[in-house]
Amino acid sequence: MRYALLLCAGAGTRSGLPANKLLYKIRGKAVAEYALDNFAAARDNGVIDEIILIHSEADRAEMETIAARYGALTHTGGPTRPESVRRGLRFLRERGAKGADVVLICDGARPNTPPSLIAACAAAARRSGGAVAAYPVADTLRAVENGVFTRGVPRENTYAVQTPQAFRFDEIWESYEKLPETAAKPDAPNFTDNGNVHAAANFTDDGGNIHAAANFTDDGGTVHAAANFTDDGGVHAATGFRAELVIGSPDNYKITLPEDLKRFEREIEQSSLPVSQSPLAVSQTPTELLNSQFSILTSHFPRVGVGSDTHRLVSGRPLILGGVRIPHDKGLLGHSDADALIHAVMDALLSAAGLRDVGFYFPDNDPKYKGADSLKLLAEARAKIEQAGFRTVNVSAVISAESPRLSPYIDDMRARLADVLGIPQNRVGLTAKTGEGLGFIGRKEGVAATACATVVHLHSSPASHCEERTQ
Ligand SMILES: [Zn+2]
Repeated sequence: MRYALLLCAGAGTRSGLPANKLLYKIRGKAVAEYALDNFAAARDNGVIDEIILIHSEADRAEMETIAARYGALTHTGGPTRPESVRRGLRFLRERGAKGADVVLICDGARPNTPPSLIAACAAAARRSGGAVAAYPVADTLRAVENGVFTRGVPRENTYAVQTPQAFRFDEIWESYEKLPETAAKPDAPNFTDNGNVHAAANFTDDGGNIHAAANFTDDGGTVHAAANFTDDGGVHAATGFRAELVIGSPDNYKITLPEDLKRFEREIEQSSLPVSQSPLAVSQTPTELLNSQFSILTSHFPRVGVGSDTHRLVSGRPLILGGVRIPHDKGLLGHSDADALIHAVMDALLSAAGLRDVGFYFPDNDPKYKGADSLKLLAEARAKIEQAGFRTVNVSAVISAESPRLSPYIDDMRARLADVLGIPQNRVGLTAKTGEGLGFIGRKEGVAATACATVVHLHSSPASHCEERTQ
């Protein structure tokens, strides 16, 4: 199950309104309803299963009426954000949430969360255990002490944290159970960021791969230290923030101050104008707007690549496929060890990442690659796609050879490929086929391989979106 906890329990004191800003109506619709629109769309598209609106006791009647319109459940939150989250998690546990179920924790005060971002966070949490939407900081940062600027703060790799933040249920549950009660009291420094709570419990994730068994420590010191921080980027790094980054959206702002509410109100008024009258048309045409949204939203999507390779079978050469030496009276001819399977997989990976091919990076007239172990070349190809921000999701390949029989070696090949690619063996699929006596395969003149790979772009930046658009 995938649950979304929509936090609507804040009193909204900073927004300058006497009541909860989430109940403030624009065009007859409360801010909370605009947020619910996005989560209901995600639910209707099968991205999440249940929405739970967390409200304060004071707003119960109004929030229950709103939730009912969207088929959302409700639960009463606490006096602080961490306490609201904790109560929401307990409610989910009572409803049977467990283990690898995914819970998204979201600010009700973000009325513009794209449903695709909700989907990307849910998928990343399933993959890595934790995922946090964040957006690169564009403004110049300066530190201030006693009203005077002291020093510049480098903004490289600095991200403003947004929601959704999505986690495996067992991980976030245990994180909150470990969080000392003091951190949830109104006078204690509050976590405003569930990613920090998650990180505080000392989760590591294996670089976007399947999360190993939860790596909790019993070191209360970590959690105590964590209770003293607020969510600034430097502390994230210091505490070993290990949730996966999902690039958020500049439009996914949180309504905190009166200006934010005015901005949202203005956007709603403008979006109901005909395009020709919309101030948006001055800076961006609807097509440009769509293109930039498309680029940002699809940057999270998996990308597929295909590759193939053929080598001639000759006497006097070893037969090496998938890094495994296979006893046979002939072997494959080539500059390197002529491992057609690995070369096909490399091309698939490089192609999925939008890079050039094996021949480009490992030319067969370069003495460096004479007799090269293709497993080592595969490791280099992996490094290239990772430098470009990609991670391998899975590979799948077909080897075509009339003889020898390859099935006894398939699992060994899978293990070697998985090892070099840093993915579990069950993400490497290999199929062996014969040529049924037809063609060069059937005449035992050569061996061919075809491969597919999927990769995901983990650390995209606005700059790379721009590159994509202009390519
Ligand atoms: Zn080759």
